[in-house]
Amino acid sequence: MVALIEPPVETFRVGLLITEQCNVACSHCWFSSGPDRMARMDLEEALGYIDQAREIPTVEWISFTGGEPFLLPEMLVRLVGYASGRGFRTECVTNCFWAETMEAAEKMLRRLADEGLDVINISADDFHQRHIPFDRVRNCYTAARRLGLKIVIMCATARSSRLRIGEVAKRLGDDGIRVVGDGAPVGEAAALAVETGFVPAGRGAGIPEEEWLVGSGSLEGPCKAVLRDVAIAPSGAVLPCCSAAGLVEAAWVGNAKRGRLRSLIEAAARRKLFKVLSTDGPLGLQRLLGPRRRETYVNRCHLCYEVLTDPRLRRGLSSL
Ligand code: SF4
Ligand code: SF4
Repeated sequence: MVALIEPPVETFRVGLLITEQCNVACSHCWFSSGPDRMARMDLEEALGYIDQAREIPTVEWISFTGGEPFLLPEMLVRLVGYASGRGFRTECVTNCFWAETMEAAEKMLRRLADEGLDVINISADDFHQRHIPFDRVRNCYTAARRLGLKIVIMCATARSSRLRIGEVAKRLGDDGIRVVGDGAPVGEAAALAVETGFVPAGRGAGIPEEEWLVGSGSLEGPCKAVLRDVAIAPSGAVLPCCSAAGLVEAAWVGNAKRGRLRSLIEAAARRKLFKVLSTDGPLGLQRLLGPRRRETYVNRCHLCYEVLTDPRLRRGLSSL
């Protein structure tokens, strides 16, 4: 029996996918970004979404992501300044391709820091470093430290990955990096580092199953990100989270070009689909369906994607 307690929706972050384009095409990318994905958000639209986010009192953060948002540096600087000026905390996600030298890294990050940037979120792992020299990650990291930015390092891993989070921290040579989940206190950390098994969805679905890091995260419990950490794509589609559920159109929250973000999220919060995800998580959805399609999953987001794309759920998804 699935409990359907109505949780308060406390959206804390709105991610703007300012471009679907990326300079590289990592094999694990669930969003399937790459050089040929040309969709971009208009500047005026992005500014409008930031204004809309102000209508939701619980939103503290605006995250600029993609694709690779540093492909649009002038727009990024403008948006960070606009969001910071309206009281938001801001984050930029990047693969660091642009940090070719220390000087280039400092110049770019100083512009963003001067506009009020709070957090730089750096991707570093084997998937990314097949395309991007690690020196650029180091340049970006070192420049961010010098400028006093908060740093998050995200490391996506497969079974055969060598560049796992411990190795990333070692190569950066900073004792202040704290790996989230390793039991160490993170209070005074210079940087937080998070390792997750890649989700085999989108382009990542093409990676052989032997490489999946099965069991790298718990399947139990509610999803704390759904409708709380939403994202807006260049099409205006409002994605329910920043993970693979965003690939399932029937699980979209609505379109921010046609409705106000706040009303869309409030309406979505009344849908059974999101109530179940918020209270019982993807396992709750799975129980509505009956037997699992697979025995094993990488983590909760993998299970979620599998359930949302299960033909048994898909048939009734728009009414859920
Ligand atoms: S994972 Fe990140 S860096 Fe890699 S293709 Fe996707 S958006 Fe680009
Ligand atoms: S469990 Fe589902 S809804 Fe929650 S973050 Fe993962 S993919 Fe998104």
